[in-house]
Parts: sequence; C-alpha cells; structure tokens
Amino acid sequence: MKILVIGSGGREHAIIRRLAADRPAPELHAAPGNPGIAQLATCHDISVDDLDGQVRLSQELAPDLVVVGPEAPLVAGSADRLREAGFAVFGPSAAAAVLEGSKSWAKEIMAAAGVPTAASVTVTAPDQLDAGLDRVNPLGDVPFVVKADGLAAGKGVVVTSDRAAAVEHGEAVLDAGGSVVLEEYLDGPEVSLFCVSDGTRVVPLAPAQDFKRALDDDEGPNTGGMGAYSPLPWAPEGLVDEVISTVAQPTIDELAARGIPFIGVLYCGLAITSRGMRVVEFNARFGDPETQVVLERLASPFAPLLLAAAQGDLSTAPAPQWHDAAAVTVVVACSGYPAAARTGDVIAGIEAAEMLGTHVIHAGTVRRTEDGALLSSGGRVLSVVASGADLEEARVLALAGAEAIALDGCQHRHDIARTAARDARD
Ligand code: ATP
Repeated sequence: MKILVIGSGGREHAIIRRLAADRPAPELHAAPGNPGIAQLATCHDISVDDLDGQVRLSQELAPDLVVVGPEAPLVAGSADRLREAGFAVFGPSAAAAVLEGSKSWAKEIMAAAGVPTAASVTVTAPDQLDAGLDRVNPLGDVPFVVKADGLAAGKGVVVTSDRAAAVEHGEAVLDAGGSVVLEEYLDGPEVSLFCVSDGTRVVPLAPAQDFKRALDDDEGPNTGGMGAYSPLPWAPEGLVDEVISTVAQPTIDELAARGIPFIGVLYCGLAITSRGMRVVEFNARFGDPETQVVLERLASPFAPLLLAAAQGDLSTAPAPQWHDAAAVTVVVACSGYPAAARTGDVIAGIEAAEMLGTHVIHAGTVRRTEDGALLSSGGRVLSVVASGADLEEARVLALAGAEAIALDGCQHRHDIARTAARDARD
C-alpha cells in the first residue's frame, strides 16, 4: 500500500513511524515531512498550506491513501480537494473541520446533539465581556475560562482566577478581530479520546492524558502540550463506552444529518468533573503529543483502519488491539516557549536518548543546508517516547531520554504521568 501523509510535526512523525511498523510495510511519503520522518518516508517539499501542490503530488504518486495530519490544511479544505481529485483521504472536509476551527459552532453542534459540555456565552464586543463572565461564573468563585473562537494552536485559551486578566485576554482576541467564547469552569482531570470515524460509524482508540501547561504542577501558560501518557489507570470503568454513546456517536450523527459527514479523527477532549463527564473541546485530527503514546500502544495494523475510514466503511477494518505496556512522552521545547520561542539552535543527544531505550519524535526540527546539522525550528522541538511495564517505568525512561537531549535553553516538564504512576502503584 502506498500512503502519503501531509504534515511536518510530531503527530505526523508518530503516524508515519506506526505505519512503517505495519506488515507488509507500506510505501510511505510525506509532504513536507521533517528530518525524523525522512528516515522512514520519502519527503516532498510541498508545504501544508499548498493545496494545489498536494493535489499535484498525489496525482504523481497515486497513493492508495492520503492522511492529512494538521488542522490548518483541513480547515483550508485539503481533504476536499484531494477527495475531489479521486483519492481516499483520511481527514475531514473543511465543513466538518469547523468543529475544531470554531468553538462556537462546536457548541452549537453539541447543543443540538445533546452532548454534555461546559455552559458558554459567545461574545463579539468588549462591552459584552463583563456580563458574559457573570453569566458563566456568577459567584466568581472558580477560575474564568476565556477562549479565542478560532484556531490558536493551543494558545488561545486563558484559564485564570484574575478577572482583570480574563477581561484583558478577551479584549485582545476581540481587538485581533475574533470572537470570544466564555465558558463555565470544569473541574476534574482531563482525558483525550481519539475516535476514528467513517462518517457514520465510530471506533475508539485508547484514552490518553496530556499536559497543557508549560511548567511542572500545571503552572505557567497553556501550550500545545508538554507530554502525555496512556493508559489511564484511574479512568472510571466504562469511560470509553460512555464517550462513544454520549459524545462521539451523537456528534457524528448530528453532522451526518446536516449533510456534513466527518471522516477522520474526532478528538474528544473531556473533563471528568464532579458532575459527570463534559466535553472541553473537539479537534478534527489526532492530538499532539497524545498520538505518540496512543500509537505506541497500538498492537493491530494501523493502515487498514485509516483506509477503511477513508473509504467510508469501518466495519471492514479489524478492531484495534492494544499492548498492555504503558507509554509516556515528554516534550522538549525550545528556549522561551510558548511566549517567545527561539529557533535555530543546534540539537544533539538524540542518539544518547535512544540508547537508553526511548525513541525520539521530531516536531520542530530542520536540517541546516550547509552541513546537515539538526536545528530547532519550532516551539516544541522533540518528543521523547518510552514504553514500560507500568507508567512509572515508562515515565522514568522518557524523562531520562528528555534529559539526554542537548539544546541550548531547552525546557521540559518533570512530572508527566507522575501522579498517575504513583497512584497506580499504591
Ligand atoms: P488545543 O489547540 O491544544 O486543542 P485549544 O486552544 O483548542 O487547545 P482548549 O482545549 O479548549 O483549547 O483548552 C485548552 C486547555 O484549557 C484545556 O485542555 C484545559 O486544560 C483548559 N480548559 C479549557 N476549557 C476549560 C474549562 N471550561 N474549564 C477548565 N479548564 C478548561
């Protein structure tokens, strides 16, 4: 099977790494890919926003399957263009990807489908902010949740007890021309569940948890994600079935009824609150870095699952099977991330990290043309993935791997999966 993956981040490297492990091994191509992907696939110099280029490349390669990784090309219509050109595409249409591209539209779909989520108010002018905050947080006794309505690469959300800071973020988003979604605060731990859909059916992958804040103990600003682990020993029994029956299937059904079939990954970001499970957000693609740990645990073939969804009939795919081993990933970010990411620094230590028994996923790396040196090119540079008999074993190994990376000013969290690992051993 010949597969083209669109994207250049850690998610796409993890997808390609797992596809490469299928037997028989597929022929793999990436556009544009990255230096890590280049070790496993043929990379083509076509950017994620060059939709014409993606169609042209697909016509040249004639892949059996195209997987569109990131949200930006999905929202821009990459999957539509490729489907129109006759290819089997894993990734939602632009119309379906609005589920991620507009938080207010996602709220509308959830309301129509009866999906449990945080109460919210959408605000389009600064003078509506105060009344909106009072509505979603009437006593002011829990943090304020203020979100940019549109795509913001994980950085459009502020959760703060400081009302002035909440208003300031809302004003900044409105000033930039966007609208703002104010939400009720959801307490309780978060779970990410990737649900593969063919437009009508839904197949869940293994749940994972990611760590959004930049610093240990969930301090610091929100980021794209600083680490993740799977499985979740603390998750309530029946969680996956509950998510499918109360969240994923009703959402897919609602979209189908509106003539917007969703083919791809419906990423359900959930909070397990004291009042039950609630949706925090939907994404229209695999999450990064949860993909790294979920695919690390996938024991059954990956390509047939994606192809069956792309062809509109998941019933033909074998049900996913999972390794018992635990997986943890620790993200190594560059100096200044997320506020002022510094790029262009030389990266060393990947071999040392892998000698320990980890593997290193490239997220923001590039090769210097003159000498082939590996340089940082994005906020999140690498993610170090480890497996272990349990979470503690995997976590200690992933952390050691992250510490073996040499990159001037780099940062990583030290507490990924720590609490879950401790609780699981107690
Ligand atoms: P990403 O791009 O990473 O998907 P995003 O910008 O779309 O993120 P959300 O996932 O909606 O934003 O929110 C980011 C994080 O903020 C969540 O993972 C969660 O930790 C926190 N958060 C969001 N909404 C709430 C809420 N209603 N109550 C409490 N915390 C919240």
